[in-house]
Amino acid sequence: MSRIERTLSIIKPDAVERNLDSKIKEIFVINGFTIVQEKKIQIEKSEAEKFYKVHETKPFYNELCSYLSSGPIVVMILEKENAILANRELMGSTNPKEAEEGTIRKKFGISIDKNSVHGSDSPENAKIEIDFFFKV
Ligand code: ADP
Ligand code: MG
Repeated sequence: MSRIERTLSIIKPDAVERNLDSKIKEIFVINGFTIVQEKKIQIEKSEAEKFYKVHETKPFYNELCSYLSSGPIVVMILEKENAILANRELMGSTNPKEAEEGTIRKKFGISIDKNSVHGSDSPENAKIEIDFFFKV
């Protein structure tokens, strides 16, 4: 079954720093996503810690939060049929070295930490993450 969904996408500092944001946005549009809202921001480390709280017990948590707050990011609400899964597929595996040909992480990712994009992994988290960045 298919239905229109919204998911949260982030273009991470490594990609914004290399001026890849318009190229990545174009990939989303070509693949049928509508960019419902977007903003370029830089977040505090404390906000990154909140956003990535599910990972707080992981050994890479501290570096991950430092990294996400290290420079400008582009956060977007993407809409499409089955957007959550479709975005995960378009991004590719977490580790760019294992990502499938044609995926964003394969094309642009540098390493498992600097992997260029974030995407929500479930309808529940998509709602939480969209509210985190866009709730007024
Ligand atoms: P995804 O972003 O594909 O959903 P995870 O939710 O597992 O991946 O991890 C969140 C982010 O944490 C990843 O995108 C990546 O930037 C970072 N990360 C994941 N695993 C590692 C690792 N083993 N070492 C360093 N950073 C990692
Ligand atoms: Mg994840």
